[in-house]
Amino acid sequence: MDKIVALCKRRGFIFPSSEIYGGIGGFWDYGPLGVELKRNVREAWWQDMVLRHDDTTPPPGMPSAYAMVGIETSIIMHPQVWKASGHYDLFHDMLVDCRHCKARFRADQLASSQCPEKPSKRPGEHTTCDLTPPREFNLMFKTYVGALVDPESEAYLRPETAQGMFVNFRNVLATARVKLPFGIAQIGKSFRNEITPRYFTYRSREFEQMEIEFFCRPEESRAWYEYWRDRRLRWYVSLGLRSDRVRLREHSPEELSHYSCGTADIEYAFPFLPEGEFGELEGIAHRGDFDLRSHMEGKLVRQGGELVVERGPDGKPVHPGSGKDLTYFDEETGERIVPHVIEPSAGVDRSVLAFLCEAYDEDVIPDEKGVPQPRVVLRLHPRLAPVKAAVLPLIRKEGMPEVALELYRELKRSWNVDYDDKGSIGRRYRRQDECGTPYCFTVDGQTLSDGTVTVRDRDTTRQERIRMVDVPGFLRERLGG
Ligand code: ATP
Repeated sequence: MDKIVALCKRRGFIFPSSEIYGGIGGFWDYGPLGVELKRNVREAWWQDMVLRHDDTTPPPGMPSAYAMVGIETSIIMHPQVWKASGHYDLFHDMLVDCRHCKARFRADQLASSQCPEKPSKRPGEHTTCDLTPPREFNLMFKTYVGALVDPESEAYLRPETAQGMFVNFRNVLATARVKLPFGIAQIGKSFRNEITPRYFTYRSREFEQMEIEFFCRPEESRAWYEYWRDRRLRWYVSLGLRSDRVRLREHSPEELSHYSCGTADIEYAFPFLPEGEFGELEGIAHRGDFDLRSHMEGKLVRQGGELVVERGPDGKPVHPGSGKDLTYFDEETGERIVPHVIEPSAGVDRSVLAFLCEAYDEDVIPDEKGVPQPRVVLRLHPRLAPVKAAVLPLIRKEGMPEVALELYRELKRSWNVDYDDKGSIGRRYRRQDECGTPYCFTVDGQTLSDGTVTVRDRDTTRQERIRMVDVPGFLRERLGG
């Protein structure tokens, strides 16, 4: 992992936020290559899930064409959203504070935490340790809207994008002319005041999510849950997570949230985790009618197997919903139903990290003189690679830079490509290998006489000659359109 973090810094993928001031825990900045990689992950998700969503086979007996629409909702929402959804009351971690050193620990991670006092020991093991009993701590960042800092103007930075889809359910129904089943998708920032941000970008306080709320008939929901669970796993595999480090894990009944009748996690064995342990990349949850009902009726709790509105001693809902009708009218059957929801919820940053970890490789290749040299290579899927190709003049004279620049400018119109004329050709190749660039086109002496260039493949390091006029077609074919 240290090598991957070092590569991210050296090549400009990821930096600590506000680094010149010493950084700030749980916040990260994406550099020039990182921002392209992240854009490509988002773009691949949007293309595959939203725009080309019905390229797949639906569950047997289900409609083959269903609508999928995008949305972009605000980060700060009406505070009642988080009360009705349950986040205000339930989105907590249990924390233990040390009254002596002021450090905070997650109660469930006490055994694996370190007390900041020297020599390093676990919390509670120093004679000076003075731990509180576990106490609740809300993970939502609080802020104030408007000029007054009072309880009336309290608001929260969203801890997930999902609620934006539920509160816009009516708007989408009314404007997008969608029929069940259909999905609403969103990519955007979320914020959680994580107690122990760690493992590089894996657990951050500001991160990005790619979420889908897929609305369907209750009786079809199990089939759609399985469809999304399997489809989401295939998506990661199609983009290169092929090793035995990725897996799908169904939650046991005890692990399920109180409203869920099925949840699976897609997990990756990140290299910072202890051997044999996996970390969540994405959760796919069957959420029943919990969310739409919460926003109609008010915060729900489970009572004797039933979801009911939580009421205070006066009989009124503790956290009322909007009171608006979020049902769906089925024109064919004349019924009004509350659709069930399947929610595939993925993290952009965790996906980027998993793709980087999977792509990182070290091997030995011969240099120009045939001497074996170790190299670091990022074997990123071409769709994800930040730079798709590099154009390199072999030497900086004899007209080669001019020809190379012409090719570079042409390719630049369609792809993110790099031009590099500094240093030996071997070093330039190895630099591109570290950036994950799939192809390098080199303009050499022969180019000037016969119009061909060499193309070098990042993974095999093999080179072939192709005509310069064929380069765009070659790239289009290899990069998939
Ligand atoms: P964890 O158990 O790791 O805290 P979670 O179950 O709380 O995750 P969800 O609420 O299901 O996570 O959020 C959906 C996705 O959002 C996660 O699968 C993950 O990819 C991403 N995510 C959640 N919390 C963070 C975070 N603190 N930093 C980066 N990504 C996150």
